[in-house]
Amino acid sequence: MAKDEKSRIMNEIVSLCKRRGFVFQSSEIYGGINSCWDFGPLGVELKNNIKRDWWREMVQLRDDVEGLDAAILMHPKVWEASGHISEFTDPLVECLNCHRRFRADEISGDKCPVCGSDKLTEPKMFNLMFKTFIGPVESDENVIYLRPETAQGIYVNYQNVMTTMRQKIPFGIAQIGKAFRNEISPGNFIFRSREFEQMEMQFFVHPDDAERWFEYWRQQRWNWYLSLGIDGGKIHWHQHGPDELAHYAKDAYDIEFDFPFGRKELEGVHNRGDFDLSRHKEFSGKNLEYSDNVSGEKYIPYIIETSGGVDRCALAVLVDAYTVEPEKSNPQKMRTVLKMHPRLSPIKVGVFPLVKKEGMPEIAREIAQELRKKFMVFYDEKDSIGRRYRRQDEAGTPFCVTVDGQTLQDNTVTIRERDTLIQVRTKIDEIAPMIEKYIENWERDKGIF
Ligand code: ATP
Repeated sequence: MAKDEKSRIMNEIVSLCKRRGFVFQSSEIYGGINSCWDFGPLGVELKNNIKRDWWREMVQLRDDVEGLDAAILMHPKVWEASGHISEFTDPLVECLNCHRRFRADEISGDKCPVCGSDKLTEPKMFNLMFKTFIGPVESDENVIYLRPETAQGIYVNYQNVMTTMRQKIPFGIAQIGKAFRNEISPGNFIFRSREFEQMEMQFFVHPDDAERWFEYWRQQRWNWYLSLGIDGGKIHWHQHGPDELAHYAKDAYDIEFDFPFGRKELEGVHNRGDFDLSRHKEFSGKNLEYSDNVSGEKYIPYIIETSGGVDRCALAVLVDAYTVEPEKSNPQKMRTVLKMHPRLSPIKVGVFPLVKKEGMPEIAREIAQELRKKFMVFYDEKDSIGRRYRRQDEAGTPFCVTVDGQTLQDNTVTIRERDTLIQVRTKIDEIAPMIEKYIENWERDKGIF
């Protein structure tokens, strides 16, 4: 696909996100703030559905992974131990002509990518952590950081979780939460922002078992993206070469996705060795060794990490789902539809009266209220039925239920399915079970009606 075509698609997705209430620019009425985004009514549903799905898969369905919600602010020594104070830096280059700043690795050649000037400064290392002060005194000893990753909250709680939940190695701890990075060049919509959410799981293992668990988690995480209905042809593995490996990592693979702006990381799966717990042992002075009751062996566990971004996952789902196709009834016209997995769809059912009279709105409202007990529902009586369908297509809503003249006679409604556009008639009390069954059995490019 040509570059112009790709950026056109990205622009269309960004404007759909705004139009339908997925994503707004943060502080928009003040001109916006670069690199921060607000998730609107549909965006928060999409993110919640992704997070719920991840949590179910990683915590609820397993007896060897526990959940955690650690504080964003942590003891500053944590970041010394983790290496973030000394290592969490990017090389920053400034153009002395237009004064734009870039990450050195984003510049090819020795010219400013914006104004073309060759007056570039030498790269300076720039720490990506946001700094603030704890308490009222703004002094050096009160400096504190907004966490740049959720992982450290897990490491410092490894013994708390293990003992309270009576876990033994191998076991894991999972957490979803905000992280903050003062990125030099944020961009590509919600792909790289300065405030974002991570879904991370740290699995503690015997050093001899680390490679086996690393392979296991790579497979699990890959399968999860497929289970979200994401096109398997658009995700890829990228193994970090020796010059890409982070200071802590023994081995690392990224799951990458084909975004319109290029193939980019969605999630990292890392074998972190014993780096994290050894460092926290050293800096805290606490014994973080694991003691095996059966063999009597004492050792620092290795950690296998799976670290994904909620916002990047949401963007991948939106990009993957975004479809513009000729309308079936009128192929001259195009319809825009988000063909995402119905499990992720922000709204599961649109409920409409065909016309705003003859008692249809009353029945439709009653149906909507009943369905709300199970699903997110959108009731709509404005505009023509065709426009109402189209609005829900753009929101990714898998079903539209319409109350019409026949409903008044036999208590049946039509249900229209988003992807195949097939409509069936069903009894009102069969709507909910039908939707549940469909969501459970949904497969890409297949309808079940
Ligand atoms: P990148 O190379 O793209 O900067 P990274 O390798 O620094 O990413 P990690 O530190 O491995 O990323 O973070 C784990 C995950 O957190 C990433 O795979 C991504 O999904 C998410 N993430 C990291 N930085 C950002 C960001 N600035 N905005 C949104 N999500 C992010």
